[in-house]
Amino acid sequence: MKTSEIRQKFLDFFASKGHQVVASSSLVPWEDPTLLFTNAGMNQFKDVFLGFDKRPYSRATTSQKCVRAGGKHNDLENVGYTARHHTFFEMLGNFSFGDYFKRDAIHFAWEFLTGEQWLALPKDKLMVTVYATDDEAFDIWNKEIGVPADKIVRIGDNKGAPYASDNFWQMGDTGPCGPCTEIFYDHGAHIWGGPPGSPEEDGDRFIEIWNNVFMQFNRDESGTMHPLPKPSVDTGMGLERISAVLQHVHANYEIDLFQNLLKAAARETGVAFSMDIPSLKVIADHIRACSFLIADGVIPSNDGRGYVLRRIIRRAIRHGYKLGQKGLFFHKLVADLAAEMGDAYPELRQKQAEIEDSLRQEELRFAETLDKGMALLETALAANSKVLDGETAFKLYDTFGFPLDLTADICREREVEVDQDGFDKAMEAQRERARAASSFKMAGNVDYSGADTVFNGYESTSVDAKVLALYKGN
Ligand code: ATP
Ligand code: MG
Ligand code: MG
Ligand code: MG
Repeated sequence: MKTSEIRQKFLDFFASKGHQVVASSSLVPWEDPTLLFTNAGMNQFKDVFLGFDKRPYSRATTSQKCVRAGGKHNDLENVGYTARHHTFFEMLGNFSFGDYFKRDAIHFAWEFLTGEQWLALPKDKLMVTVYATDDEAFDIWNKEIGVPADKIVRIGDNKGAPYASDNFWQMGDTGPCGPCTEIFYDHGAHIWGGPPGSPEEDGDRFIEIWNNVFMQFNRDESGTMHPLPKPSVDTGMGLERISAVLQHVHANYEIDLFQNLLKAAARETGVAFSMDIPSLKVIADHIRACSFLIADGVIPSNDGRGYVLRRIIRRAIRHGYKLGQKGLFFHKLVADLAAEMGDAYPELRQKQAEIEDSLRQEELRFAETLDKGMALLETALAANSKVLDGETAFKLYDTFGFPLDLTADICREREVEVDQDGFDKAMEAQRERARAASSFKMAGNVDYSGADTVFNGYESTSVDAKVLALYKGN
């Protein structure tokens, strides 16, 4: 089954269960300063869960564009390393606003996954988790659905727990939250990894495909949880992950949707196509995130959302460079993406020229310093094999436009750590110098325009904006 068919089947299933099909919302959250990017299907319904907003329906279903590259849910560092994480992905979801609760949610999920006319997955490959104290969910899975007790794992909220699992879902530090039950697919013993709750759970053998959250609370700024007006349901299933299962492949990158993108990445970087080149996967992942973000109005900049976008673009460019592509290439992949996903997301076609232009500008800008920055980094790495000193990391950031995470990404490939403290100190020293220079300049003494800075890769505004103005000689 093709990815586009799975997306449609999911929406059809929940429409047949009385759910209103609602369009994906923008990746830029609407009037929600607590959120960097839309990171889950429930975001656009946040106020409905909280009881501040009402809709003409009490059940909804969506296929939602999500980006997890910052904030509470950040998967940027996972891309290229796990089989299952993207920066951009589509989340299929069904929602109940004070309508059905645990029982129906679990029954719907099981029927869609295993029902003959739906996905017809083999039941013995599925495992589930429930929140540690949620006997009700445990009993529904065990007694009503018939999942054997040894395939139901109780998982807590990770406070002091030895493993990464967490069965208490929250959108951010504040907002709607609640206990959840997650469904995992066993990709087979030939893949490293263990069941949820085991020490090997971070492996990619058992992959979480679907999370069903029982929205019961609103967490306020002090951390206190208040019961929601009506218990609700919010679920999320990664489209790419369920496609991998149905297409009998293991990694998300092996699904139909990614094939043309990976080939395009090989074509534009000038390497022979192979599934074993991690940089191609990173580039294929990043062209999706960057294009969808630009289509939703984000532009590369030095702070906030724009800086996250800039970081993702530069990481992609650097992966192209690693493959030997020193010219501009990234923007040429937009056409391939629009061909692949433009039917489901017409904004890709409508804004293709704008996206290409924005990426091309950013490629041009980074091209000025990438080569010299890489040379500096190589020299530093040759001199010290274990740790990259903070001074160099800062110089790369400040002079050559290497966001710190980009430098860390390169270092990680070589098993080298970045001295974060040293970086912070160098940044602070720079700010001191800028402050001093600024007061001198006000006295009319100093011309700071001779600073050896060709790029301004600043992360935050306030002080940095002043420094930037100085460098520009304003
Ligand atoms: P994981 O534990 O694998 O990181 P998660 O528990 O963080 O996933 P949820 O917040 O529960 O994920 O999101 C709901 C679903 O969205 C997941 O079950 C998964 O199928 C999908 N998903 C989450 N993060 C990603 C990602 N970075 N890339 C692709 N799919 C994802
Ligand atoms: Mg996660
Ligand atoms: Mg999880
Ligand atoms: Mg989850």
